Amino acid sequence: MQPTPEIGPLHISPCWEVVIVGAGPAGALAAHGLANRGVRVLLVEQRLFPRWKVCGACLSPQALAALEAAGLADLVAAQGGQYLERLQLGIAGLVSPIALGAGLVLSRSRLDQALMEAAVAAGATVLTGTRAVLGAAATGLEPNREVVLQKGTARRSVSAKVVLIAAGLTHRAIDDEAEISTSIQPHSRMGAGCVLPGEVAELPPGVLQMAVGHGGYVGLVRIESGEINLACAFDRAMLRSGGGAAVACQKILAEAGFAPLPALKEAAWQLTTALSRRSMPLAGHRLLLLGDAAGYVEPFTGEGMGWALTSSLAALPLVLSGLEHWDGAIETEWRRLHRRWVTQRQRSCRVLAVVLRHPRISWGLHRLAGSFPSVAGSMIGLLQRPALPCSTH
Ligand SMILES: Cc1cc2nc3c(=O)[nH]c(=O)nc-3n(C[C@H](O)[C@H](O)[C@H](O)COP(=O)(O)OP(=O)(O)OC[C@H]3O[C@@H](n4cnc5c(N)ncnc54)[C@H](O)[C@@H]3O)c2cc1C
Repeated sequence: MQPTPEIGPLHISPCWEVVIVGAGPAGALAAHGLANRGVRVLLVEQRLFPRWKVCGACLSPQALAALEAAGLADLVAAQGGQYLERLQLGIAGLVSPIALGAGLVLSRSRLDQALMEAAVAAGATVLTGTRAVLGAAATGLEPNREVVLQKGTARRSVSAKVVLIAAGLTHRAIDDEAEISTSIQPHSRMGAGCVLPGEVAELPPGVLQMAVGHGGYVGLVRIESGEINLACAFDRAMLRSGGGAAVACQKILAEAGFAPLPALKEAAWQLTTALSRRSMPLAGHRLLLLGDAAGYVEPFTGEGMGWALTSSLAALPLVLSGLEHWDGAIETEWRRLHRRWVTQRQRSCRVLAVVLRHPRISWGLHRLAGSFPSVAGSMIGLLQRPALPCSTH
């Protein structure tokens, strides 16, 4: 896999129809969809690709349906994505298998690179290694929005008729808190993750090992390289109690009934900020927020990419009409569509997050799931059933 050739902010046109900040699944799919419809799109990403990011690397049926609707049905399999067949759920020493069957596993390095390449093939221009910050909307009547691009010491402003902020959890792409502010849910967990050498665990491909403990949970899955992708959500207190993510992870694995993992201490851990958060409002003048940048709920059900990709599909018709004429009705409609396609689907995840904080209840449910694994599999299938906005490639 070749890194994207670098071009700098000084070498690109100052005027765009759409500028998208962030080339994760939300930003890259939006860029792909708009470029396919003949829109002049600039996709700006602060990291150099391919890049790894903290994520369980499991694509839900919703995520796969969104890719299919975008005309990218084969993308995951072509990158070596593997079927997710079984969940091995461990709580309080009881480990039960639960059949899955409609998801795929692919590392974020490969997935995000492939989505970015699809956007480029559709005609989008991509700037990597470049940070983007939204300029102020002075009166809310301007025909364009300004975005400031910075790469090292090179800095330039570009303008766009519409700006999409798809910059993930921390989205430092909007400085003006009066325009968009983020509230973090009290006691929100923090994310952490790393990649381990394949030989550290006896984990067959297609099996997601999930350990649930008092201070959080840990998910492990074998990715296409043969390595183990590890992603966790921890209470802050657990992380602060000494030893950091490696020790917290080891404690949860032991409590759940899984074998300890060597090499956790030597692993190159990445941490996230608080996970459960919401941005308000979700739209502004010539501006929409997509994916995690709009809001996120901690990741137990592994649906974040599905929400992100669905939000991109749902936003496309609004962006196209906003290119013709922008008014407040578009902002209101985006709040409605986002509630319909994302916020409502996040509810079950929010409920699960609360249940998981009560070890007795989650242990009781787990015992039930262990006794009736096919019912548990069907329940998970029901929670993850795909549904999409009417938007086609
Ligand atoms: C522990 C954990 C486990 C998870 N497991 C799963 C799972 O198994 N399945 C699943 O579907 N989801 C999972 N998720 C959620 C998933 O990772 C996210 O929901 C998904 O990545 C959201 O996509 P996005 O495009 O909105 O944001 P991101 O993927 O975060 O992409 C945002 C991009 O914007 C870039 N960026 C940020 N600021 C700027 C800026 N100012 N200028 C330019 N670029 C910028 C970032 O570098 C990044 O590349 C998990 C999350 C966590 C924390």
